[in-house]
Amino acid sequence: MKAEAYMERGEKVLLHTYNRTPIVFDRGEGVYLYDIEGKKYLDFAAGIAVFGLGYHNERFDSAVKAQVDKLIHTSNLYYNVPAIEAAEKLVKVTGMDRVFFTNSGTEAIEGAIKTARKYGLKRDGHTGHEIIAMDHSFHGRSMGALSVTGNPHYQEDFKPLLGGIRFARFNDLDSVKELVNEKTCAVILEPIQGEGGIYPADPEFLRGLRELCDEHDMLLIFDEIQCGMGRSGQMFACQAAGVKPDVMTVAKALGNGLPVGAFLTNERAAVLVPGDHGSTYGGNPLVCAGAGAVLDIFAEGKILENVRQVGDYLWEKLEEVKAKYPVVKDHRGRGLIQGLEFEKNPGAIAQSAIRKGVILITAENNVIRFIPPLVIGKEHVDEMLPLLEAAIEENL
Ligand SMILES: *Cc1c(COP(=O)(O)O)cnc(C)c1O
Repeated sequence: MKAEAYMERGEKVLLHTYNRTPIVFDRGEGVYLYDIEGKKYLDFAAGIAVFGLGYHNERFDSAVKAQVDKLIHTSNLYYNVPAIEAAEKLVKVTGMDRVFFTNSGTEAIEGAIKTARKYGLKRDGHTGHEIIAMDHSFHGRSMGALSVTGNPHYQEDFKPLLGGIRFARFNDLDSVKELVNEKTCAVILEPIQGEGGIYPADPEFLRGLRELCDEHDMLLIFDEIQCGMGRSGQMFACQAAGVKPDVMTVAKALGNGLPVGAFLTNERAAVLVPGDHGSTYGGNPLVCAGAGAVLDIFAEGKILENVRQVGDYLWEKLEEVKAKYPVVKDHRGRGLIQGLEFEKNPGAIAQSAIRKGVILITAENNVIRFIPPLVIGKEHVDEMLPLLEAAIEENL
């Protein structure tokens, strides 16, 4: 059956919440995707910063396949070995103390919000606490995560949202300080804003927030769902500033395509107790076998080194693109999370690039996002660039 026919069938039964690009993918290999008609695409989106190891990493695939044959699910009423091992590895790389596994990023944020609220209760003996979040942030689509997402466009139709959320300006410590009062229990932010348009936090901003949170006995929550797991060139983006949060959320590349996320806490923020939180699937043996394999592969160190090298190369090359085309206004990011900001919405440029065979996606604020698999090579950057330039020229 042809792609057209599948797309028609899909549009009849799938809820229309996405304006999908007209491609039906069939399989992946390394850093390439193939559609059902056999056309090959270089992947610079990695399923939205998910496929860190690329398609068909042998070690990952065999760990997952072996677990399918052994045990897929048991529930959290019991212990399972892959979850214990994955949690140990995650604690080690994050420097946090405790892990709660979720099925997605947005659920990790829900756990972080509940942790913050419970922390406030323990601190003050009553409920009714406030959380400070950032403008242009993105934390997910469930009602709690949406409430801390600083994008009115996503929020407007679903009000009332969670109460007690206040928005500060990213990289503006004074704007955060102005919002702190005796009810504030936490500050939540992405160390590099992803969906919002690839805005890295200044190290001084993160350090200032750490001091502020310590001073007022509030929790500092870092959402590393997109920028974490090696994407920035550090295992977690906050590590570049040497700042540790009290709660960290991870997902996306953690499962290399399997639906697994987590929120992690230090001992101080480990306030949730039996009855406070739960998940039927969360951290089941299958996804944890995958996450464990991902963390083992990272532990070898080659991926981070690759992200730094290829990230620097991509930076140089995108600087050249910026210098060549006045429609490119800015270039931000680090490692393999970079963005080019255009004068106007670059959606048409991304679509042209896709037709030419490279998968690019956009972000808010007129940005094209470069978030390829972390195993990409310089040769793939060289392959992407002429297609990007041709796509820009087609849309001048
Ligand atoms: C993608 C993302 C989320 C939401 O994750 P889902 O798995 O889509 O629920 C939350 N925070 C950040 C920073 C993200 O990039």
